[in-house]
This record gives sequence, C-alpha cells and structure tokens, in this order.
Amino acid sequence: MLITKIEGENNMANAKILVVDDDKLSLTLMTDILKTEGYTVYPFDNGSSILEMVYLIKPSAILLDIILPGIDGFEICKMLKGDIQTEDIPIIMITGRTHSSDVKKALELGAFDYIKKPIDEVELAARVKSVLRYNEYQEKLKAMAIKDGLTGLYNHTFLIEILEKEIRKHEKKSSSISFAMIDIDHFKKINDVYGHLFGDKVLKGLSDILSESVANFGIAGRYGGEEFGIIFTNSDKEGLCNLCEKLRKNVQDNEFQIGNDKVKITISIGACFKEDVKDLKSDEIIRQADEALYKAKSSGRNKVEIV
Ligand code: GH3
Ligand code: MG
Ligand code: MG
Repeated sequence: MLITKIEGENNMANAKILVVDDDKLSLTLMTDILKTEGYTVYPFDNGSSILEMVYLIKPSAILLDIILPGIDGFEICKMLKGDIQTEDIPIIMITGRTHSSDVKKALELGAFDYIKKPIDEVELAARVKSVLRYNEYQEKLKAMAIKDGLTGLYNHTFLIEILEKEIRKHEKKSSSISFAMIDIDHFKKINDVYGHLFGDKVLKGLSDILSESVANFGIAGRYGGEEFGIIFTNSDKEGLCNLCEKLRKNVQDNEFQIGNDKVKITISIGACFKEDVKDLKSDEIIRQADEALYKAKSSGRNKVEIV
C-alpha cells in the first residue's frame, strides 16, 4: 500500500533503470547501452504497464518517451510525480520532438532531465550516471530530514506532511482515513527507575513493535517525546479498533530486558476515524485523536479510545 516511498537502489552500479519507448529500435538501443554500463534494465513498449510495474521494480530512474500510444509520457510523468510513493524517482524524458515547449512542459511536470533523439550512446550513459549520482545524494539528505534519529520512524514534520497528503488523496476518492495517537503510560517512571538510556532503548523497541504491527495497514511516526502517531488509510471503524487493540496487546505482552530485569510497558491509544474527509485539516483529526487519548488516559491507561 501507500506507506513506503519507493527508494531506488543506492549502489549506482546495480541500479535498476526502467525504459519506456514504443519505438522498438530505440528501446533496444537504450537497453543495450544501459546494460553495457552494468545497470539492470527493464524495457517497456507502452506506458500503462509501467504504472503498475513501477511499484514492484522500484527503479532508481525512469527513461520515458514522450510520444506513446495510449497514455503519453507527460501524463505518466504527472501521475508518478503526483504519487507519494513514486514522486522521488527521477525521470529523464526521451523524445524525437525538438520544440522547446516540450522541454519546458516536461521539466515543469517534474522531469529531472531531457534527452533528444537520435540517442547518443555517450550522452545517454553520462546523463543516467549524473541522475543516479544526484539521486544517491538526495536519498541520503532526505533520510536525514524525514526520519527521527533515535527510533528510525518518520519524524513529526514528515508524519504531518504525509497525513495532509493522504487526507487530500482520500478526499478525492471519498474514502475514510484515521489517525491514532499513542502515548507510553507512566514513562517518566521508566526513566526515573532505569535511567534515560534505557528509556531510549524502550522508545526504539516500541517503535519497532509499532512499525511491525502496522506494516501493511498504516504509517507510523514519532509525534514527539514518547508519543507516536499512526495514519491508517484502509480500515473501517471496526478494523481500526481491532488494529489498535492488537497494538496495545503486542506492547503489553512484550518484555524489555535490562540486566536481569524484565521490564514491561503499556500504551494508551486515542484514535479518530473520519468517514468523510471533505475539507478535513490534519490539525482537526490530530486534535480529536488527542482528545480520545486523554480519555484513554483518564479512564485508567492501557486502553484504546476511538472517536
Ligand atoms: P502518562 O501515563 O500520563 O503519559 O505519564 P508519563 O510519565 O508517560 O507522562 P509525562 O508526559 O509526564 O512523561 C513523559 C516522559 O517522557 C518525560 C520525558 O522525560 C520522557 N521522554 C520524552 N522524550 C524522551 C526521550 O527521547 N528519551 C527518554 N528516555 N525519555 C523521553
Ligand atoms: Mg506524553
Ligand atoms: Mg506518557
């Protein structure tokens, strides 16, 4: 599902390149050039099939012909750039067209670069190498910017950004979305009794449980301190309730080892289910989840409260 962004292969030599061109001759030529460079190449002679295959192949870059039967290169570029999972895959547009308005349009739609036919072997190899180098650098920077250093989960800013994007996506599809706020019960005591470093280990361990438990159902992030947020996008209210209960139980059953001691923690969860996301703001769903969390806390902790 939507959760993970597609991130290309970091090792440039093993990079996977997806090539789309309906002209068999130039498709074969580009494929051969790139294979000679040591890349794994996936050639396609039409646009529609790559819209599915891109999620499976997870390419590091896409070479995309503009003129294609059915959906053209511009349209494909637009779709890939509009999807959070594929927006970061660099696209090099390939075309026989020489109008600068095409170059302008391709770049405005988010293409990284542009190559004109006839294909020049040296130029193609150099441009692909350049895009992969740029990609590698961007990925390193992005990982630092969007992940929380201690837990490896998405950080606060990025979690909210995804939430906002998911809300807009579900608004268009008229489908529901949920947000769960999770807070460790009496976490201050864990720090006080076992020390801050052990507290950090607990935060990391809990993050692993959260991401494993929701792997196929939601997007987890560190909201702040000992609070976590999860965006659920495929559940009805009952499903959401079951997932949150499962989470709560997984945490309750887990033991953290410190020396000879085994330490258990519990969490409280407040979740807000929104059937109708029209004009919904991320602040609003977070506020309601937070209110539900407050109820879960005040009714005894180690509880799930859904609104
Ligand atoms: P409650 O059940 O009401 O949530 O009680 P609590 O003790 O968990 O709540 P409180 O908000 O009083 O304490 C949260 C604690 O979380 C205090 C703070 O020191 C700790 N904390 C926040 N961030 C970190 C961190 O990165 N590492 C560690 N070890 N502790 C953290
Ligand atoms: Mg707290
Ligand atoms: Mg707490």
